[in-house]
Amino acid sequence: ADAVAIELLSPRQLDEMRPAGAFIAEVLTALVEHAAVGVDLLDLDGLAHDMIRARGATSCYIDYAPSFGRGPFGKVLCTSVNDAVLHGLPHAYRLRDGDLVSFDFAAGVDGWVCDSAVSVVVGTPDQDDLRLIEATEVALARAIAMARPGNKVGDLSAAIGATAREYGYTVNTQFGGHAVGRTMHGDPHISNDGRPGRGFALRPGLVLAIEPWLMAGTDQIRMDDDGWTIRSADGSRTAHSEHTIAITAGEPIVMTARG
Ligand code: MG
Ligand code: MG
Repeated sequence: ADAVAIELLSPRQLDEMRPAGAFIAEVLTALVEHAAVGVDLLDLDGLAHDMIRARGATSCYIDYAPSFGRGPFGKVLCTSVNDAVLHGLPHAYRLRDGDLVSFDFAAGVDGWVCDSAVSVVVGTPDQDDLRLIEATEVALARAIAMARPGNKVGDLSAAIGATAREYGYTVNTQFGGHAVGRTMHGDPHISNDGRPGRGFALRPGLVLAIEPWLMAGTDQIRMDDDGWTIRSADGSRTAHSEHTIAITAGEPIVMTARG
């Protein structure tokens, strides 16, 4: 028996979740379009907040107060720039030429939550940064390709870890993917490295946020004084990609696919 309660959604519930995924994709697409040299991170958070209000959606972040964070997050979007990789708390900062920024966004629509992240370079890209982003996207795509019945959580983890090593980047396994549904975080946890054939057996109705985040240098992280923003310990560049996917009898559904 499984040690933890795992929620499996019916095909009808998966259909009910699609608007949430489409909304998350719409917001991330708008953020990528608006991200440019000179644009302030607080204005991008404001854009996401306006879209939440217009849609009647519910932010998963604004009241979020987990054990590792410092009180309620207070914003609706994570903006992680350059060596910042996860949980970047938006602050007054105008994006500069060549900045590598990741947007991580989760919200509920009609009671269903989806979670997705995208990394982009604003202005003139450094080729090394584009390659780092590509590695997270390839790792994500390979994990999604493994997300079908007959495989296990360890197969997703192994696909991510192997891709990181193939590209020559490092993985830190302190934070990883997770189930999503009525709330943002559920079991099982999806480590960004692991052994194939191990862990929870994937089955139809399981909805997962898979989120490889990679670092160009050290595998160690540190937290900013804001109590949220997580950076590479050595200041090296980082990137993050995430989709919410649903396992079916056949191909997985990518709930947060962007057009
Ligand atoms: Mg996320
Ligand atoms: Mg997530």
